[in-house]
Amino acid sequence: MARKKIVIIGAGLSGLSSAALLAKQGFAVTVLDKLQTPGGVARSFSDQGFTFDGGPSWYLMPEVFERFFADFGRSPADFYDLVPLDPSYQVFFGANDSLIITRDRDNTCQLFEGLEKGAGKKIDEYLQDARYKYETAMEEFLYREYRSLFDFFNKRTMVEGAKLSLFQSLDKHIRRSFTHKKIQKILGYNVVFIGCSPFKSPALYSLMSHVDITIGVFYPKGGIVRLVEAIYKVAKDHGAEFLFGEEAKAVTIAGGRATGVKTDNGMIDADGVLAAVDYHHAEQDLIPPPYRRYSPSYWRKRVLAPSALLIYLGLNKKISGLEHHNLFLSDHWERHFTAIFDKPAWPENPSYYIGCSSKTDPTGAPSNGENLFVLVPLAPGLDDNEHIREGFVEKIINHLEGLLGVKITDAVVVKHIVAQRDFNQSYNLYKGTAMGLAHTLLQSALFRPSHRSKKVSNLYFSSHYTHPGIGMPMVIISSHIVADIIGSDFS
Ligand SMILES: Cc1cc2nc3c(=O)[nH]c(=O)nc-3n(C[C@H](O)[C@H](O)[C@H](O)COP(=O)(O)OP(=O)(O)OC[C@H]3O[C@@H](n4cnc5c(N)ncnc54)[C@H](O)[C@@H]3O)c2cc1C
Repeated sequence: MARKKIVIIGAGLSGLSSAALLAKQGFAVTVLDKLQTPGGVARSFSDQGFTFDGGPSWYLMPEVFERFFADFGRSPADFYDLVPLDPSYQVFFGANDSLIITRDRDNTCQLFEGLEKGAGKKIDEYLQDARYKYETAMEEFLYREYRSLFDFFNKRTMVEGAKLSLFQSLDKHIRRSFTHKKIQKILGYNVVFIGCSPFKSPALYSLMSHVDITIGVFYPKGGIVRLVEAIYKVAKDHGAEFLFGEEAKAVTIAGGRATGVKTDNGMIDADGVLAAVDYHHAEQDLIPPPYRRYSPSYWRKRVLAPSALLIYLGLNKKISGLEHHNLFLSDHWERHFTAIFDKPAWPENPSYYIGCSSKTDPTGAPSNGENLFVLVPLAPGLDDNEHIREGFVEKIINHLEGLLGVKITDAVVVKHIVAQRDFNQSYNLYKGTAMGLAHTLLQSALFRPSHRSKKVSNLYFSSHYTHPGIGMPMVIISSHIVADIIGSDFS
């Protein structure tokens, strides 16, 4: 009997991992992407001997990747050399004012005790609670499909809802234990990795401190692109076919079933279609109106995850004082979150991330240089033109020079800027959001857009919009979920 054919739109990490899992189940899989290379926002690029990861750079929750490769009888070590970073990251609060988070728990306790009396013991308790939430989430919440309220409000969430802190904000949860501003910021910032703010996300997400402080941060030597290449290889080895430079223009539907995908080169027939692209783009641009599940007003009311301004700099000199991962957490702490989530504006004095993978990976830059990657979270949908961008970039680089006490501008040999409209143009991301929907309580689990279309029986979705959400580990879990759904629908 002919194998059932699944067409996947999008070869980012969602599309690649779904392709591998579905091909392994025996489906004939074709993946198409408008770009020329796999990886989506996780692509890398090189210029004059400098290599940059285009988007994600924090490799967190390594067990998710292990579990993915284990499904194929493989392990990450078959494809790349994964190193635990120690220190995990550095946090700047101003010039000559920074703290280093290491993998050593005693060290973290001492560091916090040095900031606030009693905080050493409290951070230990906080991290134990974060571990409990993380392990509960991994066991109960993440690897499953939610179809009704009953799936979410089950016995465990009802009995343990308070313990999981579903109904309190992360910011409040942190303030209950710590008064020192620096501690509050360190524990609150990591939800930006899942596209949210400590003021909007439930305290359940204090589990992120278990992720970045206790489990720690890892790095695949050669960059995140090694992960992309590995999953791409697994998918191809299992027979998935890829068409690059091929943009989906429409999903064709007849009799309530998807029949294929239309591109400029013609039709690709399908028994099932998986949209592993921005959900808004898939529904509003590719599917005819009668078959859309979510209305324009639904999308207007969503809390979108931030967009970002990205500055990639190749420098012809070494910069001291930086680690592989660095955060600057600003005095305008709340104001920056307000400018992202409540009153969208280019922020005055933003917090931002500075990556410098050449600190631990010599392949990132020529021997006497560094590859700096600066990410400033911004509200999606802001006015974005050359004038605004240039002014903002100059401001951030000036600030960075002050923070590090070194001149950077005179050492720049490579410079690339990416912002709002590039996210939209390159990847069709709604309002230029870099990460889809923020993780507020009402946008978690079953409240995220569904993996299956309600109106087209063989049309599916997977990306950081769907459960469990944002980040590389999450989209891979989403692929496990959607591959199981498709597998059981066709069995
Ligand atoms: C700047 C940035 C930093 C991040 N940092 C981290 C981090 O440090 N750690 C972490 O874990 N996560 C991070 N993330 C999040 C993580 O990278 C994403 O959640 C994940 O990579 C999303 O993968 P995806 O496949 O769902 O989407 P995408 O990567 O957007 O892939 C979608 C693909 O679909 C293609 N496409 C779109 N429309 C069409 C069409 N009509 N036809 C054909 N193809 C189409 C696009 O070209 C793209 O290749 C970051 C994200 C960004 C943007």
